[in-house]
Amino acid sequence: MTAPEPVIATRDVRVELGGSRILDGIDLTVTAGEWVAVIGPNGAGKSTLLNAVSGLVPATGDVRLFGRDVRRMRHRDRARVLASVAQSPIVPPGITVLDYALLGRTPYLPRFGRESRADLEVVRDVLVRLELLDFADRVLVTLSGGELQRVFLARALAQQTRLLLLDEPTSALDIGHQQDVLDLVDDLRHDHELTVLTTMHDLSTAGAYADRVVLLAGGRVVAEGTPREVITEEVLATHYQARVRVIDADDRPVVVPVRTR
Ligand code: ADP
Ligand code: MG
Repeated sequence: MTAPEPVIATRDVRVELGGSRILDGIDLTVTAGEWVAVIGPNGAGKSTLLNAVSGLVPATGDVRLFGRDVRRMRHRDRARVLASVAQSPIVPPGITVLDYALLGRTPYLPRFGRESRADLEVVRDVLVRLELLDFADRVLVTLSGGELQRVFLARALAQQTRLLLLDEPTSALDIGHQQDVLDLVDDLRHDHELTVLTTMHDLSTAGAYADRVVLLAGGRVVAEGTPREVITEEVLATHYQARVRVIDADDRPVVVPVRTR
């Protein structure tokens, strides 16, 4: 029996932007149901890697989603297999939460067609799960940062894809909403064999949720493995120039900054 196609497979991916090499030699494989967190210092290339995986930046090398070359996929087909939330999505003026979340159903609508009752049901369920139903008629620009971040996620979840790419999905959320959102993503992963690739700012959070961690620095993968293998005092000192203690909590690393001056 042959092994199933990985959900994401990149080979020797290289990205150049504005005349600089931003990513180099990226080989990344993510299998069905896995949660992989990309970590790394500011400017390491994390967002660019997510954009390369979704075919949004020109890259050389190979990027395959479910075995298909992402650059050969039609926009609509790609949007049925991959949903992503950018680090700072554009907030369209005047649009309500409900209408924004309904955009997630676009890849399923007939050409020139309207959303069906079933599409509205999907969106309603997502809004309920993200505690956004009371906000359905609010205009996006009136929301707080944390509410907005959940609305962006709602649009992506409404796409009902098997692959979710999230670029720092919890950076604007308080600690309770962080846990709610990440637990929800984890539940979806178990219920629907969702595969998750996310960048994470907070290393303890990355370590708490991801099966595997990929550390980028200077556009290259410099460490990869379980959270405990990658999130260590030595690795963080080398690649973040950070002075930290790493404490073990149920086999998951917890990172505590240490003040030395
Ligand atoms: P991260 O998400 O890890 O903070 P990014 O992927 O956003 O890093 O950016 C990696 C590097 O690429 C940064 O130095 C950034 O300034 C640079 N970069 C990103 N986009 C462009 C662009 N369009 N033109 C030139 N440089 C870019
Ligand atoms: Mg980024």
